[in-house]
Amino acid sequence: MSKRDYYEILGVDKDASKDEIKKAYRKLARKYHPDVSEEENAADKFKEAKEAYEVLSDEQKRTQYDQFGHAGAQGQGGFGGAQDFGDFGGFGDIFDMFFGGGRRRDPNAPQQGADLQYTMTLDFEEAIFGKEADINIPKEEECDTCDGSGAKPGTKAKTCSHCQGSGQLNTEQNTPFGRVVNRRVCHHCNGTGKIIPEKCNTCGGTGKVKKHKSIHISIPKGIDEGHQIRVAGKGEPGVNGGPPGDLFVVIQVRSHEFFEREGDHINCELPITFAQAALGDEVEVPTVHGKVMLTIPVGTQTGKVFRLKGKGAPNVRGHGYGDQHVQIRVVTPNSLSERQKELLREFNEIGGNESTDEQGSLFQRFKNAFKS
Ligand SMILES: [Zn+2]
Ligand SMILES: [Zn+2]
Repeated sequence: MSKRDYYEILGVDKDASKDEIKKAYRKLARKYHPDVSEEENAADKFKEAKEAYEVLSDEQKRTQYDQFGHAGAQGQGGFGGAQDFGDFGGFGDIFDMFFGGGRRRDPNAPQQGADLQYTMTLDFEEAIFGKEADINIPKEEECDTCDGSGAKPGTKAKTCSHCQGSGQLNTEQNTPFGRVVNRRVCHHCNGTGKIIPEKCNTCGGTGKVKKHKSIHISIPKGIDEGHQIRVAGKGEPGVNGGPPGDLFVVIQVRSHEFFEREGDHINCELPITFAQAALGDEVEVPTVHGKVMLTIPVGTQTGKVFRLKGKGAPNVRGHGYGDQHVQIRVVTPNSLSERQKELLREFNEIGGNESTDEQGSLFQRFKNAFKS
């Protein structure tokens, strides 16, 4: 796998100052730190940024990198050790080194509940016209018996004596780089900072119970595949009196045998016969708003697209309607009666395959191409 350029990773110029490099790294570390980040591949991105920073913040390594690129990093005595540096002590220590610690969450502080996601599948027409729906979602609710404390009614949770309520334990470790303090989640209280001597029988001490809850949702007309509806405050309950999370309803739309969505427009294909294409016709075309008459002009070619203005999907933000695009497909008959064959042969003999100038020249060009 090819490695990304260290300057590119940090998003700085080749002549960036030490200060700019440090700033850029801090910004990335805040964004991707695995303890706080919810970004995808946060751990990898954090590692990548850290490696880039370790090289570019060191005068000697940076000069070497500028001259030899990543090869310098793999060469003997190059940047050896840069990769392994962060692995002892965990991310927390590196984080604390840069931010002076104290950024760990206080387990007793109010925390917002987790967001919930629910996938809802709609029929094609339901997405066009919207609908009212009640969905039944499994979610955690605060336990009624103990009001969410997890302690048996009449008893109380105590502050964990091992971590003094911080939820973390510090251990010291000697390394070639000196003494390093490791922070670990307190295993006596699982990081909650509290010990519950007598647990609530209903929830087993968690303070939460799983319940199915019915939630009413209004699906707006014009919604489409991949859209999300946010229902504020309907996620998991908060911790320590924090606000609840949100519910996100992710929309999926079943495909339709005739119609296809393209944003606010609806595409469809209309098969017509050779005779309709050649002679022209008036045909009925289905739309989601009902049937519409479409005029097929004389000499219509396959692939031609007609636009039925305003016959598409409503815009989900209320900005009118899209169009329906009708693409013509001229169907060549695959079973003909003797009489039909006879007529087509006659048609061919009287010059049916050179009936228009455009086609005539096209056929001529085709024939000429094989002469030379
Ligand atoms: Zn503890
Ligand atoms: Zn309970």
